[in-house]
Amino acid sequence: MSTDGTGGTDGAGTADGRRPLVAILSGAGISTDSGIPDYRGPNGVWRKDPEAEKLVTYAYYMSDPQVRRRSWQMRLNGPALRARPNAAHEAVARLERSGVPVRVITQNVDGLHQMAGMPERKVLELHGTARAVVCTACSARSEMAEALRRVAAGDPDPACEECGGVLKSATVMFGEPLDPRVLGEAVAIARACEVFVAVGTSLQVQPAASLAGIAAGHGARLVIVNAEPTPYDALAERVVREPIGQALPALLRELAAG
Ligand code: ZN
Repeated sequence: MSTDGTGGTDGAGTADGRRPLVAILSGAGISTDSGIPDYRGPNGVWRKDPEAEKLVTYAYYMSDPQVRRRSWQMRLNGPALRARPNAAHEAVARLERSGVPVRVITQNVDGLHQMAGMPERKVLELHGTARAVVCTACSARSEMAEALRRVAAGDPDPACEECGGVLKSATVMFGEPLDPRVLGEAVAIARACEVFVAVGTSLQVQPAASLAGIAAGHGARLVIVNAEPTPYDALAERVVREPIGQALPALLRELAAG
């Protein structure tokens, strides 16, 4: 099974009388209060703008230095690295600190769950992270902030400092596969959890949608917190349409109270 996702001392559901595992699947909607728009979703910024979508599409990025230059400028000027966690991210971290076993599976690349206090090892980033860069030749990883300092200092397309290869954001671009290890852990969590809370996600993009189905199929209580209807609403024990920043903290307080 997983190396860390559901293992360890507090992760595996109801065995030995431990408190049941709560899985939180978060999408773009949890971060809009932090000033980060929905880039990637079916109605996201990138999907509506073919030129912008090229900046995060692997084949264009790798083949066209102009695309890379614009992509670095987009990141330099974008809100992602300046954003702060909001009440919803903080509520998730608070639930974890209260002793409830929590795993976060996120479609977001902003790192705000961890910044709010979720332990790194309890957050699975399906689409990677915009806080790191990776070399496409030698796989060396380094900080996005450092790469952006080089861009700001006048290097329009910073190359890997180890090998000179093309650097890219450590996010999963369009046209790139998801990390099978991360996906495997997410599936294991969906199977093992007692409560599966899908928050701020339209559940229209794989693999997020299938995770909700897997959780419900394994008997988890499915709770959906999203402004718009999702294809899984009929399977949910509860559907919440109120704004996430208020609804999620209230919901998670209930869960913490048991
Ligand atoms: Zn390299």
